Parts: sequence; C-alpha cells; structure tokens
Amino acid sequence: MVDIKLGVYCAADDEVKNTLSLERMETAAKEEKAVVFRIHENISSPEGEELIRKDIEEKGLDRIVVLDRSHRTYPDFFDFGEDILVEQVPLREWVIWSHDPDEDPEDEEENHTQLLAEDYLRMACAKLGNTKPPHRIETENSISRTVLVIGGGIAGIRSALNSARAGYEVVLVEKEERLGGWSAKFKKSFPSKPPYDKLTENNINSFIEQLNNEQNIKIHLSTIIKKISGQPGEFVVTLQNGSEPEVINVGSIIQATGWRPYEAKKLGHLGYGNKNVITNIQFEEMLTDGNIVIPSNGKAPGSIAFIQCAGSRDKEHLPYCSAVCCRASLKHAMQIREQYPDTKVYILYKDIRSPGQYELFYQAAQNDPGFFFTKGEVVEVRASENDTIEIDLDETLLGEKITVCADMLVLATGMVPSTFVEDGVVESSGGEDAPDTPVEDEVPEDGKKMASGAEKGAQILNLSYRQGTDLPTLKYGFPDSHFICFPYETRRTGIFAAGTVRAPMDIAQVTNDAAGAALKAIQAIELVDKGQALHPRARDISWPEFSLQRCTQCKRCTEDCPFGALDEDDKGTPQNNIARCRRCGTCMGACPERIINFEDYSVPMGNDMIKAFEMPEEDEEKPRIMAFMCENDALPALEAAAQKRIKWSPWIRIFPVRCLGSVNLVWITNCLDAGYDGIILIGCKHGENYQCHFIRGSELAEYRMGNIQEKLKQMALEEERVQVEAVTITDWEKVPKILNDYAEEIEEIGPNPFKDF
Ligand code: SF4
Ligand code: SF4
Repeated sequence: MVDIKLGVYCAADDEVKNTLSLERMETAAKEEKAVVFRIHENISSPEGEELIRKDIEEKGLDRIVVLDRSHRTYPDFFDFGEDILVEQVPLREWVIWSHDPDEDPEDEEENHTQLLAEDYLRMACAKLGNTKPPHRIETENSISRTVLVIGGGIAGIRSALNSARAGYEVVLVEKEERLGGWSAKFKKSFPSKPPYDKLTENNINSFIEQLNNEQNIKIHLSTIIKKISGQPGEFVVTLQNGSEPEVINVGSIIQATGWRPYEAKKLGHLGYGNKNVITNIQFEEMLTDGNIVIPSNGKAPGSIAFIQCAGSRDKEHLPYCSAVCCRASLKHAMQIREQYPDTKVYILYKDIRSPGQYELFYQAAQNDPGFFFTKGEVVEVRASENDTIEIDLDETLLGEKITVCADMLVLATGMVPSTFVEDGVVESSGGEDAPDTPVEDEVPEDGKKMASGAEKGAQILNLSYRQGTDLPTLKYGFPDSHFICFPYETRRTGIFAAGTVRAPMDIAQVTNDAAGAALKAIQAIELVDKGQALHPRARDISWPEFSLQRCTQCKRCTEDCPFGALDEDDKGTPQNNIARCRRCGTCMGACPERIINFEDYSVPMGNDMIKAFEMPEEDEEKPRIMAFMCENDALPALEAAAQKRIKWSPWIRIFPVRCLGSVNLVWITNCLDAGYDGIILIGCKHGENYQCHFIRGSELAEYRMGNIQEKLKQMALEEERVQVEAVTITDWEKVPKILNDYAEEIEEIGPNPFKDF
C-alpha cells in the first residue's frame, strides 16, 4: 500500500438515487479511508470537474474515484495532471443500467444491487491504494527522427515521399540497382480517371523523379539490410552495399518489400510446362518488348485464353484472392486487341472481381466483340498435335462441358508476399507453459538466442531480436498484427508494413497504404519521443519493471512477449527494450515469481482488488463470480449491452484487465482462496483469424487456465470453476448471456469449498 489521500465522488441524479442508498455509499467510502466523499447531480460535467479540482487544491487529494460513467464514454474528462490518479467506476453501466434496483437497499438479505455498487467502490479504492502515478521513461540516447523505408517499388517510393514531405528525414533502401519494383515493368496501368474505360500510361517514372529530387530522402540502391537492432526511436541499422557496411540510426521502419508471383511450376494441372502456356508476368514482358507472339512458332496469335485465379482462391495453392489478377487480364486483353484487332480473347473465370469504378473497366471489356468471358471450373488443359492449347471447362452458367481452343494460354497467377517463407515456422506461443512449438536454435551474431517458436523469416530485416529475424507472419506470409483495428501495425513495434507485402492490392490501394504507413511511422517516432506506448494502449507512459534479483531465468516472459520486446542475456535474464513494449502485461501474467509489474497495473494491485470485494458467508446463498474482462473487446461489448439496458447476474464482479494475457495465476488462486465460487475470463478471439489486440494474450490465458483446470480436477474440484470465453467487440448480446449462463452453472455446482475457511 502507498500513502494516499483519497476523494470519492458519486453521481447523484434521480437515476442513481432511485437505485442506490447514497448514505451506504458514503459509509463504504469512509471505511476505505476516503478523505472526501461528495455527491453531485452531474459529476461528469465542468462543474463536477471543478468541484474535484478545488478539493485537490484545498485538501491535497492525490487519488480520485468517480462513480458515474465508463471512461470509454468520458475518456478525457477528469484530467488533473499526471500525479493525480483517477479511477472512473462505470456505476451506470456495471450496476444501475444492468441490474434491477433493490426493493430495500438496507435489507441485508436482498440488497444485491447495493452490494454490487459498494463492491465496485471498494475495488476502485483498493486499486488506487496500490498504484503509483507512472513515470515517463527517460531514454539515454536521443531519438532519431529518420524513417527507414525498405523497398523501392511504388509502396516504398510513396511512403518515402509522404514521410519526407511531412518534414522527416528518409533513408530508402532498395536491393535492386534500380527503383520502381514491379510497377516499373508494367507498360500500362488500370484506368485512373472517368469514364474508367481506358488504360492509362504507367507514371512510375514521374514518382521516381520526384523521389530523386526530394532533399530529405537518401536513396541506397543495390543495398540490403544486414542487421537491425535497438528499438523504436533508436534502431541501429547496418546496410550492406557490396563489401561496404554502413551503420545508420533510424526512428521507425516501413517495410515495403512487395510481392512475388505465385510459382507457376506448381500449376502443371493448368498446363504450365507447355511452351505455349505462360504466366501473366511473362505476358507483361512480351507487352513491354512490343512482341506478342506464340512462343512455339513466333507467329502472331489468332486467339489467346486467360485462366483466372491461377493458384488463387484454391485451397491447394493460395486460398486467398490476389485482388488484381482479374483486372490485370482485362488490361492485357485490351492491349492485345490494340496490337491485334482480330485476335480473339477468351477469359475463363471463377468470378470477375473488378470492384468500385473498375466495374466500368470490366463493362468496357464486355462490350468488346473480340472478348469472350466464360465462367467455369477448369477440368483439364492439354496441347493438341499442332500445339494449340485445349482447355476443358465445366461451364457453370449453362451447366455444359465445353472445350476452349487457343493459340496460347496465359495463367493469371496471384501474389505472394515477399515475407512468405515456404517452410517457415509460424510463430506460436512460446514458453514452458505454452502449447508445443517448434524450436529454433539459431544464435545471431550478437549472441542473443532465438526463442522457441521463432519464425524462420525471409531474412529481409535481419532483426537482432530474440524472437526471430523478421516480422512474424500469418499462415500465408502476411505480417499482420491486428488487421481490423491496426492495419499497418506488425508484431514488431515501430516497424510497419505497406503495400503488397501486407495484402494483395493494386497501385491505387498501394498509394493509400503508403500514406497510412508513413503516418504510422511518424506517429511511432513522436510517441516514443514522449515515452508513450503505441497501439492499442496509445499514449500510455507506464512500462513493466522487473525486480530481477528474484528472477529465476525461466524465460517465460521473454518467450511469451507478443511483440519481441524482451531479449535476454546468456543466463536467460530478461533485457527490456521499453520502446518495443506495448504495455499489454503478458509478461506480468507469465512470471511465476510475480516480479514484473507496472506502477499502475501490478500483481499486488490485483490481489488487493480481489480482496476488496465483500465475500458473503456460504449460508447467505449469494454466490460470487470474478469476471476478468479484457478492456479491448469484452468490456466495451458488455458496456454496450448495459447501454441497451440488458441485465446480467448480480453475482458477477468485473475486474478489467489490459489483456487476458496479463492475468497472473496467483490472481486465480487468490480468488479461489478468497471464496469466489467461479472465475471467468473473457477476452478476444485468437488463432489464424484472431482479434486479440495483443496477438496471443487470450490464447496464452486459455492455455494457462487449462493448467489450472487440470489442477482443480486433481484436487477433486470442479474444473468449471475456472472458465475462459472469447468474444469480439460486436458481441454485446452474447457477453451478458455468457455471464448469466455461467452464473447459473455455478449456482448448480454449489459454493466454493474454500469459502469460509
Ligand atoms: S508488457 Fe507486453 S509488450 Fe511489454 S514486455 Fe511485457 S509482454 Fe512484452
Ligand atoms: S522475470 Fe519472471 S518470467 Fe521472466 S525470466 Fe525472470 S522469473 Fe521468468
């Protein structure tokens, strides 16, 4: 406990007064040693704020509890400076809107809602009693304000231009000897202006020129990244051009390393291997050379067929849509018709995907009498004796089997991100208490060991991180972090993905993407400079402190950190890189010694909050259930339910957590010891299509709770006493139901046998 001066302020309009006894709230506050308890008709208002400010000045208050609305509704209302900690208790959402008023709040047997409100008041006081104002991390080195852009294709060029024009120094590194990437190899581009029915000239050269003329951009061609160490604001990057290494310091990094075509040699079933079957990339080369000919005889083709989704949308190859191949074939077909007006073009498709204004582009192609669009599934591709390509198709519009014959066939192959590694090890939860993971024993130059489960990586960034050399990726190689909320974020703080390395997209989308990534890279520099966290706890200045004298070097924290923030020395002692940390608390939840804590979020704080709720005696028949709820999705969903006046069981006590990954097992055992009859953890969904804002926190919690359930079984106790559920932020109907069903289940199971001990 720290020495504090506490003030408690409670909303007191008719809605509150008709539900609660404010006298009892005052008594509860005084029992918690509040110096001041005040009620106000509209406490969440400028007048309410002024009332509190006056008390702070006159009575020296340094901890404030406001019982009114969720801070999600009034996020910045009560800001009295960094030294005054404020806890906003969502009295309306958690109590008044979601529970019926007691008939008599003084009736000790039936006053469930009153007890609920008092418990939340006590919990808030306990929390503040064990919390210090977080102090800003002081960095020893000065922050670099340079953005490193890796990749000189259109995504890299536009990212660099955006960053430079916002006033930041940029270093652009390209492994090839020229700029432009794939874009520079394309003769024409998709239509870019109304009526969107004509191809436009490729304007990549004008952007290259702008790049070369920009004062703030330094370009390194024929250069690779040899090594990246450090952290946001202080990345140390070794560039390698020939035999000459160069070391630079940068503040943030944009990886714009693009894509590569899906390997055509895997498409033998679509005829690849026959000399008259080529890919759309090979066809683009023919267009650039101005020489479209049948490969086997060098003659002008009388007919050309295109097979769409060649490898894409195929679970044996790339299950995703590559986004641009339909339009690429339309573009190619138009170019053929320009050069050979009599050539017939057959486009064999599953669906033509040409979104937005490109629908007009598609319509223009449909209106051309030389284009034949056929929707169907390719059954077989073979060559006739005269080298004509024959394609058998189950035509799905008319339900017929047809054969299309053409002089040559173009396969519209899809996009694979440059981060994809064929036999890569997809990152999974590490740590002794995590599911089985593959182990890499590589030791980078600087001696820091790679974690079990570390991804092999495409060796582009060559990060000197314990958890691997490159951005961790999902199954198909895309370096996602949280694709809905934070599209540019990767799982390495301060490193952002832009363009086709992040998702298949066309040049117009890449242009937008590059602007987004540049803004994120700039934001990273600015936030780190202020000692603040990046998403999702943007602006949080707290950070995990390690009491290393009690560290047993078990490595759970270093392996479980979802963001690769922790390295370790030879003995396995964690070494924190604060600017990489996103303040999720997963390390705090992992540590068996309980030596990782934040100043405003800690294991002792949680222990005190658990003890703060009053535990009814067994014979009172008032079960108590602790609900650890993730503040990213589960809790907002529940509060949305409360706004719709959906009710949930009065047995539930809510404990908000940064992430389920931050729930230390000692909180669970303390709940059981304290007599809670059930413990439920509700967090984000996880897995390949995950929603967990901290990547693996909810997955780790599920695994850790599985261990607890096993132990409960060994003690002949019901494993249902500990339960984990996953939801999304839109599940406002589901979350109260989960709580109510669990309350019913616990009532059926009966009281915790540790109660009253
Ligand atoms: S708080 Fe989260 S991001 Fe920071 S070191 Fe711990 S596990 Fe890693
Ligand atoms: S800090 Fe805790 S979790 Fe990390 S290695 Fe030490 S004892 Fe293990």
